[in-house]
Amino acid sequence: MAKRDYYEILGVNKNASETEIKKVYRRLAIKFHPDKNPGDKEAENKFKELSEAYAVLSDSQKRATYDQFGHAGMEGSGGFSGGGFDFGGTPFEDIFGDIFGDIFGGGGRRSSRGQRGDDLRYNLTINFEEAAFGTEKKLQLPRKQPCESCSGSGARPGTQAQTCGTCRGAGQVRYQQGFFTMTRPCPDCRGEGKIIADPCPACRGVGMLKQKRSLSLKVPAGVESGSRLKLSGEGESGLQGGSAGDLYVVISVEEHPIFQREGLDILCEVPISFIQAALGCDLEVPTLEGRVNLKIPAGTQTGKVFKLSGKGIVSLQGYGRGDQLVVLRVEVPTRLNARQRELLQEFAAVSGEEIHPQGKGFLDKVKELFD
Ligand SMILES: [Zn+2]
Ligand SMILES: [Zn+2]
Repeated sequence: MAKRDYYEILGVNKNASETEIKKVYRRLAIKFHPDKNPGDKEAENKFKELSEAYAVLSDSQKRATYDQFGHAGMEGSGGFSGGGFDFGGTPFEDIFGDIFGDIFGGGGRRSSRGQRGDDLRYNLTINFEEAAFGTEKKLQLPRKQPCESCSGSGARPGTQAQTCGTCRGAGQVRYQQGFFTMTRPCPDCRGEGKIIADPCPACRGVGMLKQKRSLSLKVPAGVESGSRLKLSGEGESGLQGGSAGDLYVVISVEEHPIFQREGLDILCEVPISFIQAALGCDLEVPTLEGRVNLKIPAGTQTGKVFKLSGKGIVSLQGYGRGDQLVVLRVEVPTRLNARQRELLQEFAAVSGEEIHPQGKGFLDKVKELFD
């Protein structure tokens, strides 16, 4: 079949200005656009014909060649040989962006590319000491990475994914809704813009594979439950050249059998006998860095707090360190034998109220209240 004259296709004369050609093409292209004529082969051919004509006539150099040599001048020079028109190639993309950009809100086909990878969350449990001093952890995390057998294309090695005919690679199709032109993901390629006829057996056409990856993580001193460490670019890989997502490591700190954290301070309750409390003693108390000696003066009451300066948690921000607070609990003896009971009774007999100043003070107040 003889190729139709480009001017004839657009219905303009040979002296038509660039603006006129653009205007006419725009009107016709909208009319015959495949999305407005779904399943209409004739409209599709017409649209291809229009696009081809416009690609040549809108380019002053190509137009001059065409004017001089006709179709023969175009053979093999612009990718139009044999009448085949590559919709996935640059000429169409340029026209598309040029003409439709302002109508459809930007060259949608380009912006749909380069999808950023998802962020990942990893829950890491560490013990109390690791949180206090920092630690280094090897993480094994599954992450989607481009399939090595198909280099991420999803097509069986040696084959290629085909540009989707329905959306012409845009991944979206347009449809008319009243006065508005709406877009939705292409149903045939599910928004990918490509159709894989022969999928890669390794990734089953996805182009990505979940792979275990080891990662070394430095946990800084001072983290606590709920602390979130961000590792930029360690999330899922991006698609089609998009950047990788981030990895968030969320810390959870195991409870310690004897220490409790209170901000930067460490609380530790230490039981002592009432005899130790009454007579005073040297008490060994545990800290994060081993045992230290604490002098308990005679007559120490229960609930008394001793501060071990600088034995707490190092600040995550790097300034300062908390203290350890030792809270004494005086323990009353239980299950006394006869001899022990006798000695305590004897002790009570020789003791006046004065040795229990708090109790005496309380009784005095009660007296004032009722007498
Ligand atoms: Zn499609
Ligand atoms: Zn693959």
